[in-house]
Order: sequence, then C-alpha cells, then structure tokens
Amino acid sequence: MPRRWLFADQLGPHFLDDRHQPVLLIESKAVFRRRAYHRQKAHLVLSALRHRAAELGDQARYLRAETYAEALREVREPVEVHHPTSRRALALVRRLDGVTVLPPKGFITSLEDFADWADDRRGALRLDAFYRFARQRHGVLVEGEEPVGGRWSLDTENRQPPPKGTARLAVPAPPMPREDDIDAEVRADLDRWEREGIRFVGRDGPRRFPATTKEARARLRHFLTHRLPEFGPYEDAMLAGDPWMAHSMLSAAFNLGLLDPMAAVRGAEQAYRSGRAPLASAEGFVRQILGWRDFVWNLYWYFGPSWRQNNELAARRRVPDWFRDLDADAVTARCLADVLAGVRDHGWVHHIPRLMVLGNYALQRGWRPAELVDWFHHSFVDGYDWVMTANVIGMSQYADLGRMTTKPYVSGGAYVNRMSDYCGDCRYDPKQRLGEDACPFTAGYWAFLARNRHRIPRNARMARTLAQLDRLTDVDAVVAQEEHRATGPP
Ligand code: SF4
Repeated sequence: MPRRWLFADQLGPHFLDDRHQPVLLIESKAVFRRRAYHRQKAHLVLSALRHRAAELGDQARYLRAETYAEALREVREPVEVHHPTSRRALALVRRLDGVTVLPPKGFITSLEDFADWADDRRGALRLDAFYRFARQRHGVLVEGEEPVGGRWSLDTENRQPPPKGTARLAVPAPPMPREDDIDAEVRADLDRWEREGIRFVGRDGPRRFPATTKEARARLRHFLTHRLPEFGPYEDAMLAGDPWMAHSMLSAAFNLGLLDPMAAVRGAEQAYRSGRAPLASAEGFVRQILGWRDFVWNLYWYFGPSWRQNNELAARRRVPDWFRDLDADAVTARCLADVLAGVRDHGWVHHIPRLMVLGNYALQRGWRPAELVDWFHHSFVDGYDWVMTANVIGMSQYADLGRMTTKPYVSGGAYVNRMSDYCGDCRYDPKQRLGEDACPFTAGYWAFLARNRHRIPRNARMARTLAQLDRLTDVDAVVAQEEHRATGPP
C-alpha cells in the first residue's frame, strides 16, 4: 500500500482509506518564511501536524525540512496524496516524481458535480441556487424534493441584532483545548524561529482552536447541544464583550481537515429532527457548511487562477502597515479597533466583523484586493488561499463585479449601529458623514459610491442607492475628506 502523504490541512481520519495505512507528514519551515503568519495560526498548524504524528506513532513518518521537495528526496517508496487545497501545492505535487495525486477530500460536493451544476447556469453563480442543489443532491433537511419547513432559507429569521442591554449572549462558553507538551514544544520552536528572524504578526496566546479530531469532535458535540439554538438568530450580531457569540468556532478545525463536514451537517440536521435546535438555527449552520464552504471551495477551482487577480474597481492603495500589523491601539473607531484587536489577540473574528467591518473598510478605501487575500489568509487561524480568494475577491471587495454576489457588501455606520453595541461608546457618530464626528464607515460608504458609480453594474438592488447618492449635495466634500484620511488609522 503506498504511503499516504497528508498535508497539514488533511489531518482527520477520513483522509485515510485504511486505519493502518502508512502515512507521511512533512513540516516545512519555508512556508513560514514566505509571509508573516499570525503567531497563533502558525502554532495551531504545527500543533495539529505534530499531534497527528503522535496519534499515528510508528504508522507515520514525520519529516522536518526547509521545503516539501527537500523532505521528499528522503522518501524512497511510492507516495500518494489527496488533491491539495492551493494551486501552489497542487502544482508542486504534480511536478514531483513518484507522487500520485488522488481526488480532493474534506468537502461534500465534488469538483465534477459542481462543474456540471455551474456549466448549466447562465450568468452569475449564486449561493442560493447552489445551496438548494446541494441540499437536494445530498438529501439534507429535505422531504422528498422539498425543503423541511417549506423554505430553503430561513435567513430572514437569522439576522437579528444582539439582545438589547446584553454584554454577552446567554450561551455556555465553547470548551477550550488544554495545551500539552506538544504545544509547549511548538511554542519553544516558534520563539526560536522568531529569534532567527522569521516574522509573525499578532499576539501569542493559549491555543483556543482544536488541534486534534478528538478536540474538534468535543467542540462540535458541545456546539450542537448547547450553542446551536442561539447560533441562528444571532449569527450576524456583534457584541464588543463577546467575541465568540454562539458561533461554533469550528472553521479552523474543518479547514485543517480534522472534522468531516458531512458528519457535522448530519449532526445539525439530527439536532433539529430530535427537537434540540430550532429549524432556523440548524438550517443556518447547514448553509454555512454544505452551502457557503463548499461553494467557495468549488469556485476557487471553477473560476481558475485569474480570478484572484481581479481588480475591476481599480483599487490601487496598498494595505497600510497599521492594518497589516494589527495595530488596533492606533485606531479610534470603536468597531474597527475592537475587531482588529480580535484578530491580533485570537487570529479569529466571526464572519460579520470580517465582511462588514474589515472588508467593508478596505473596500471603501480602495485597498488592493490581492493583498487583502494574502492578509486574511495569513492573519486568520482558518485562512487558506481557497477560502479567502472567494471571501475577498468575490464577496467583500467586489473585485470581479459580481460573479458570485448581486451587489457590493458596502455599508455605512447604520449597519454596525443596528447589529452591534459598538456605536454608543464611539468617538464618532454613525449618522454623520461630514466633519469632526463623521463616522468613517458612513463617510466611506458615500465616498466609495461616488468614486465607483460608473463601475458598479446598475442592477435593481443598486439603483435606489445610486439615486440617493445623486440627491446628496455635500458628496464632493465627503469625498475630499475621505481622500485625506484614506490610509491613516481612523
Ligand atoms: Fe464604527 Fe462608526 Fe459606529 Fe464608531 S460610529 S463604532 S466608527 S460604525
């Protein structure tokens, strides 16, 4: 039986055909030299890889080398590997002699099924249509061909602001991993690498995300039992004092390959069918895994390498150093300061701070989309090229003019004010677009529209917004004000 090479994002038991199969694991230091990773992400990846080696014992050969190619020169037997998750790694494994590349694993809808579905669509590809296809194809939350409860999406029930007067959601905290000797060894190695000149961003801290399948399954069980009911209604809400809200905090575990996504989808379905979670919450979670995660994975391959280079809004500003280096203390705007501090301290914030605070701010300022893909990839514990290309190019930066979304995800301070408790204690006023108290999101929103009005496709969803822009009498002053503060921390 050939030795199965597992990349550091292919670590769960479902990546092996046989539980006794010989395994190859490689730790490449060059990966961490290329870009400044978040310190906690580097820790998580190395911890997960080394924990898998410890679980497998003599079954695994563990090689530490500068590069993958260098490590493989020591391997004299046939090796096979599942289709890696980045183009760079795929090109590498295809080039190597003696390595057989198997189909991808760790996702639910295959590349072939997705391509068949996408080839049949005219125009843009939309999550809603794919999600419906995937529910039917895999028989999830359906009765016959119809959705359980009569609607495919219960999103309208899942967009509630946080409960008023509450600093934290009333849900049990997720179980945190207990660090062990392997984590201590990883921490000592990363300290040494830093002294040798490898640069990281963000703060070190206790490991908060699962590094083993056992830890990931424990967090999933806890989530399905205790947190899923509140996940749905508040999945888009933000509270300054509650970074986790009722999110599963399993994205890193899925993306390390520790959890089989279909098992999690079936778990959520079962939680609904057994009466432990409302349909809207179960459906919201299923949409994230079977829908969004598989959608963006497949689009990464379906749209091809040029997608990542899209910059149709001609966004030319470099991502500034204060943002790149997670210097939250330099920021006055309360929402942005808190979210950037969350990235600095945990390497994770949930999808709305990513999209509607970080991404929204960058979009308004015209920062280069490809640089943002890199930033999200390296700064988040769950970041990978495949997931961040879609999230940034297709979604948050609208850099492809809507190949997967109907309009840019740009908004003023009113959205943050409605969906969070940030604005009350902020130095800025979400209603102001001009002057000392002007909210950078509100001013940035109008400046963005004014700058891009001729580039944004005029569909029905944008027509009303652009008509509002036409009626503003102070828009030139707002644009000038925002030009002035386009690169410094707000
Ligand atoms: Fe953020 Fe503006 Fe609200 Fe301040 S006023 S927290 S900058 S949205």
